[in-house]
Amino acid sequence: MSRQPRRDTAPEVALRRELHRRGLRFRVDWPLPGLPRRRADVAFTRRHVAVFVDGCFWHACPEHGTAPASNADWWAAKLDKNVRRDRDTDRHLQLLGWTVLRFWEHQDADSAADAVEAVVRRAGGGGPTCPATTPDKGPFRTGPAVRLP
Ligand SMILES: [Zn+2]
Repeated sequence: MSRQPRRDTAPEVALRRELHRRGLRFRVDWPLPGLPRRRADVAFTRRHVAVFVDGCFWHACPEHGTAPASNADWWAAKLDKNVRRDRDTDRHLQLLGWTVLRFWEHQDADSAADAVEAVVRRAGGGGPTCPATTPDKGPFRTGPAVRLP
């Protein structure tokens, strides 16, 4: 409960290591365009793919999210605000043509990397006419953030 949200958590590092091992190159802790103080854990900037590894407590995971008993109202409001900020971030990025992938920290790094790799490779190789900037390119282009089970 005392742990604050931070970067470089073990699940983030595990995912980054696995993506790197697969030959993918990306930015870490990347400041999001137009969203002061918000960052993507992993960003494929040319392909416009943002990846977040959400902590189960801070982002209210349905499996492991817990509501602290003391100061319950304060915590409920705090966690609710976090979740709403996540959805706001998703919408903002999607309006800019980004694909947003979110994983829970409890998810397996290998399967998360599978999902990221599939999306990034589908988004194409970048370059002057990056396909990721074309609207309606692929099923992940619009709609809610992709949250894998
Ligand atoms: Zn969880």
